[in-house]
Amino acid sequence: MERLQKVLAHDGVASRRQSEKLIMSGRVRVNGDVVTELGTKVGVHDKIMVDGVPVSSEAPTYVLLYKPRGVVSTANDEKSRETVVDLIENVPQRIYPVGRLDYDTTGLLLLTNDGELANRLTHPKYGVEKTYVAKVTGIPTNDALRQLRQGVEVDNITYAPAKAKVLSTDDKKHTAIVSLTIHEGKNHQVKKMLASVGCPVEKLKREEYARLTLKGLNPGDSRYLKPEEVKELR
Ligand code: URA
Repeated sequence: MERLQKVLAHDGVASRRQSEKLIMSGRVRVNGDVVTELGTKVGVHDKIMVDGVPVSSEAPTYVLLYKPRGVVSTANDEKSRETVVDLIENVPQRIYPVGRLDYDTTGLLLLTNDGELANRLTHPKYGVEKTYVAKVTGIPTNDALRQLRQGVEVDNITYAPAKAKVLSTDDKKHTAIVSLTIHEGKNHQVKKMLASVGCPVEKLKREEYARLTLKGLNPGDSRYLKPEEVKELR
C-alpha cells in the first residue's frame, strides 16, 4: 500500500505537493468515496478518480526471483549495495520485495506492487509456509530435531514448531544439510533456531514459499508468476 499523494504523483497526475492540494480540496475519490486525508493508503486494486476522471495505475505485477547471495532484499540500500530490485530486468512497474532474505541467504523471493497481497503474505495470522535448506556445522542430534519440532525460545523470542529433517550428513567435515519448514518470518529465524540447538548455519537457501518453488531458475533469474499461481496466493 502507498500513500495516495505518492500514487497520484507517480501516476503523473500532478506533483506530490499539488496532489496533496487536490486531495485536501476534495477532488479525489477512492473507490467512489471522496478522500481528504493525506495519509490515506491505497493499493493497486483501488480505483482512484480525480475530478471524476479515473487515474490509470500500474498493473498488478508479481515476480519470483531466485535471490543470489550478496544482494540486499530492500528496494533501497543506504550503503548503495546492489538490491534485489536491481536484478529484475524489463519489468517497468515499481515492485517491492515481499518480506526479506538476509544478504547472504539465497533463494525464493517474491516481488510485487500489490501491497494488499504482500501484507497478507507477511502477516503472521496467515502463517505462509516457507521451506529452507541449510548447511550447518555439526550434525543435529535426535534431541536437537525434537526441540526444533517442539519450538524453541531464543533471547526471549519464541519460535513456533518447525518441520525439521536431516537430508544428509558429512561425518568427516562434521556438517549436515537440514531442511526446516516454518510458518513465521521473524528476523534471522532459521539461523537463530538452528544455532540454538547447537548447529550454526553456514549457508542458507529458501527453497519454497507458499508452495512456489525455484524450479527451472538459477541464482539471479526471475520470472513472472502465472495467473493461476497468483490466484493460489490469494
Ligand atoms: N531465516 C534466516 O535466518 N535468514 C533468512 O534470510 C531467512 C530466514
